[in-house]
Amino acid sequence: MRSYFIAFTETRQNKDYVWARLSCIIVPYILRLYQHWYNPSMSSRERVYRTEAVVLRRQDLGEADRLLAVYSLDRGKLRLIAKGVRRPRSRKAGHLEPFTRVQLLLARGRELDIITQAEAIEMYSGVREDLIHLGQAAYVVELLDRFTVEREANQALYHLLVRTLERLVAGVEPTAVIRYYELRLLDQIGYRPELYRCLGCGAEVRPQDQFFSPAEGGVLCPDCGPGRKDAQRISLAALKVLRHYQRSTFDVATSARIRPQVFAEIEQVMEDYMSYLLERKLNTPAFLRRVRRMMHERLKPDTVV
Ligand SMILES: [Zn+2]
Repeated sequence: MRSYFIAFTETRQNKDYVWARLSCIIVPYILRLYQHWYNPSMSSRERVYRTEAVVLRRQDLGEADRLLAVYSLDRGKLRLIAKGVRRPRSRKAGHLEPFTRVQLLLARGRELDIITQAEAIEMYSGVREDLIHLGQAAYVVELLDRFTVEREANQALYHLLVRTLERLVAGVEPTAVIRYYELRLLDQIGYRPELYRCLGCGAEVRPQDQFFSPAEGGVLCPDCGPGRKDAQRISLAALKVLRHYQRSTFDVATSARIRPQVFAEIEQVMEDYMSYLLERKLNTPAFLRRVRRMMHERLKPDTVV
């Protein structure tokens, strides 16, 4: 048997055959290794990069890692891996909590980039102090998360996110902060609601109660509104506040005193509009309503201990 094998391989023709078969296996393997270790389109400097970002959400991964979604200043939304971050001694852990504004050093990975260093710039600890603030901050990041796609930078949106978190922790009336944020966010993503002309007939809106249509993206007059299934009534007072917020700077907008019923009406209009745009119910408004109801129950005089 052995002599047969030697006789078989010793002929020149068969040696060539064996080499040809071997090279079929070895050459692609070497090529793959080469591509893995050396990619001419990416210099060694680019394999590592820095960016500033706000942590939107996180999810446990495997034994000790976490998957993070962040919104970065110069690259938009990114999904990243934080390795070993759930180990007790991890130095990165405290810097990667949701809502934290953080300076990151990232290494490009095959699918997701990896966080190699993280240093918090601002923790916004105030948003974690009570459920209302936590709910508001969660709503802010949820909206941003749902309305943005990965790796599409929008620096104005990043600054809006940072300013909004700062305003929440600074103790500014949260309802005003959130309504202002919603309107500016809609501007940035191209869904600024029309508040001056009827989207049905084009007539200028007159000083009376109107309708708001999420599907049309703005106001319908009392002639055009009633026939539309998605259109809800909106009071003149609520419409005026929306306009004031839409055209003013934050300080000017929030200097106006607004009745709670008007704010409640605007909140509902905005929620309907956002939900329509996102095609499914947002999670956090319902959570916020539950928390408010709970707080209200607790504050009733007969339940105070
Ligand atoms: Zn009309």
